[in-house]
Amino acid sequence: AKAEGRGRHRFFSRALHEAILARQSLQTELRQAFERREFSLVYQPKVNLWTREVLGAEALLRWVRPDGRAVSPMDFIPLAEESGLIVPLGAWVLETACAQSRAWAQQCGHDVPVSVNISPLQFTDPGFLATVQRCLQGSGLSPRLLELELTESMLMADLERVQQTLGALRALGVCVSIDDFGTGYSSLSYLRAFPVNTLKIDRSFLKTLPDDAQALAVVEAVVALGRSLNLGVIAEGVETPEQARSLLNLDCAAMQGYLFARPMPPAELLTWLRDWRAQ
Ligand code: C2E
Ligand code: CA
Ligand code: CA
Ligand code: CA
Repeated sequence: AKAEGRGRHRFFSRALHEAILARQSLQTELRQAFERREFSLVYQPKVNLWTREVLGAEALLRWVRPDGRAVSPMDFIPLAEESGLIVPLGAWVLETACAQSRAWAQQCGHDVPVSVNISPLQFTDPGFLATVQRCLQGSGLSPRLLELELTESMLMADLERVQQTLGALRALGVCVSIDDFGTGYSSLSYLRAFPVNTLKIDRSFLKTLPDDAQALAVVEAVVALGRSLNLGVIAEGVETPEQARSLLNLDCAAMQGYLFARPMPPAELLTWLRDWRAQ
């Protein structure tokens, strides 16, 4: 029995060892991918369906490996956070998105605000504000055309520090939105304490619209909250005309989702913008 136990122990530690090796090799691969410039950004427009105004475009990171296989950000972003690679990778995203917004404005003659997802590790990195400033200065982009998408859980971390960082971003003139709103903490008191601009209703609340009374109530509540705190509200993940219609009925005209456009490369977005305005 003793020998069997030892055998099992050896088996488990080998499995563990292999798991660690597999993760290490993915980490190495990710770092190499960054050095080899295998990352790119696609952009998904945000629109106001009442006014038909284009509110901006959200930058979304893509990794296509040399063999053509795409890896989802849901899979590689947690890994990049674990290894700290997210800090330089996130800085590259910011820099590229700012330059892109500037390029679009020159190409189409009007402003195209850009939104960038920020990961928790980036936000708490001591160099974060300097990076934002450097990207703005480097691109010449007006700060009001840059929006940072943060998540609720990030704001719950270290109250004073979060307040300080958000205050500094506001002083810079950069916009801040709360992504996946409604999926995080239920305490709403922080909303009053923090200078943010927009609430992004998570798409899980839209999936069952228009027939789900509870989902309708949630959207209605967020719209009311936004109005009373003087914050913008946008719904993400809008896929069907029925969803769009019920959002309009609830006075939520700002939307983003496959119904309007999939995330796309920068040149395609220019064409999309032209078509949208011509309609
Ligand atoms: P997210 O910020 O909530 O982004 C929205 C996700 O929903 C995107 O997935 C987008 O492609 C997808 N989406 C947009 N419209 C629809 C729709 O109508 N229906 C459905 N079913 N999905 C829709 P994606 O691009 O795979 O990104 C997944 C997540 O990865 C993002 O969620 C974000 O948390 C993270 N991510 C992506 N790019 C970056 C980045 O540059 N930095 C950081 N830190 N995170 C990123
Ligand atoms: Ca987002
Ligand atoms: Ca989201
Ligand atoms: Ca999400």
